[in-house]
Amino acid sequence: MNSFDEFGLAEPISRALADEKYLTPTPIQAQTIPLVLSGRDVVGIAQTGTGKTAAFALPILHHLTTKRLRPERKSCRVLVLSPTRELSGQIGDSFRTYGKHTRPLAVALAIGGVPINRQIRSVAHGVEVLVATPGRLLDLVQQRALRLDQVEILVLDEADRMLDMGFIHDIRKVVAMLPKQRQTLFFSATMPQEIAQLAGQMLNDPAKVSVAPQATTAEKVDQRVILTDRASKPSLLAEVLKTETIDRVLVFTRTKHGADKVVRALEKAGLKSEAIHGNKSQNQRERVLADFRSGRIRTLIATDIAARGIDVDGISHVVNYDLPNIPESYVHRIGRTARAGAAGVAISFCDHEEAPFLRDIERLIRMSIPSTDKRIGGPRPQQRAAGDGDRNQRQDQRPGRPYRGNKQGRGGQSHRGHGAGHSAGHGTGHGGGHGNGHHNGANGGGRTAIASTTPHQQRPAEQKPGELGGVTFLQRKQEPRRNNAQRAPR
Ligand code: AMP
Repeated sequence: MNSFDEFGLAEPISRALADEKYLTPTPIQAQTIPLVLSGRDVVGIAQTGTGKTAAFALPILHHLTTKRLRPERKSCRVLVLSPTRELSGQIGDSFRTYGKHTRPLAVALAIGGVPINRQIRSVAHGVEVLVATPGRLLDLVQQRALRLDQVEILVLDEADRMLDMGFIHDIRKVVAMLPKQRQTLFFSATMPQEIAQLAGQMLNDPAKVSVAPQATTAEKVDQRVILTDRASKPSLLAEVLKTETIDRVLVFTRTKHGADKVVRALEKAGLKSEAIHGNKSQNQRERVLADFRSGRIRTLIATDIAARGIDVDGISHVVNYDLPNIPESYVHRIGRTARAGAAGVAISFCDHEEAPFLRDIERLIRMSIPSTDKRIGGPRPQQRAAGDGDRNQRQDQRPGRPYRGNKQGRGGQSHRGHGAGHSAGHGTGHGGGHGNGHHNGANGGGRTAIASTTPHQQRPAEQKPGELGGVTFLQRKQEPRRNNAQRAPR
């Protein structure tokens, strides 16, 4: 599919696409739109940034245009479930943008963190599209402000993230209230077994679409690692921010508390930054994001969850102040830069305890990331060849190279979340590649470059494939569920 015209979308939608200057469908759009138009259930593996939102929003708008029905009071025709307020807001905005010539079109949000009364009013007369986080949605239902028995299309976006955030029970409750006769579109960035199972229960003979994880991001982004000590991270960040030529930088921390601490540390170093995370009010978050977009603030500190769904172009740098313990999150993070074909830089701080995370990441992206050693005391004796000498702070440059498996291996044991006993001698892990290359390779020339399919490699012993209707997906290793505090507040 080289043009949106080939889908036969209703004229008001084509006009909105022309307004947006979208010329070519992205690969996920090329695959998904015809399937949704034909009424199929779809399970899609795609991340934010691939054009996934339009992939479901456009055919849904077409359905609403061609099958005109007055929504019943306190109900919605299309329900989109998303894990965070930000993402929900952006999905709502996308529906409004692509549907700006579509009439009638009422789009409402049901998200936590804002007063519920306005939301109760907004659905009172019924809406075409409701975008919701699961907790608030259930609140509306419990208050009898909303019924879900008229839903014609359900979209579940970022299913893996929803599971991570502990929404599984809420999702099941919601699904139980929906009509059996419906179309379901299910999107997830990764397809661990648990997600594949959930999809299997929710979907009816789904068509599968997939664009490769943005392994390409790994190729497009200039990635560097700085080996450091935990205590040195604040000063190291200040140094990086002062020495790099930065337009806009997104700094990732593991926790909300960590994000606030970084803001304070930077302030001491004379650098202005803002944090965005779940503890901030919706208004604060919107203001911070607007300032970041406009360039009023150059440095934004975010947690993974808060950053999910932030759609800001022109991010020249991503700094991983803390390395994520989920390697896919690294790919998400660095995918924030180098968008729309621009070059980007991703700098990751790695302290001793994070060394195993770095190994997981390098294994996922199948390359070793060039590193600089700025640890006080220099490289640890067991990690570097003897004779490294110099015990003072040093810079030990190690060039990046294609990732190769380690003959020694580690017997396939899981090694998350415990640093002790693991050396920082990264780049020598095992070479089980994530062969998640199920895509058709069609690069529609949209904003996302998609990797060419890479051959499957031997999987390490601990990974069992998840099966979904004959398609094998790699299973993400078991992660501890995040606590409730990270859920979108009701
Ligand atoms: P998403 O993956 O839905 O978050 O989309 C990522 C970004 O790509 C958004 O800013 C969209 O506006 C933009 N986008 C989506 N589809 C296209 C397209 N076909 N051509 C150009 N830009 C697009």
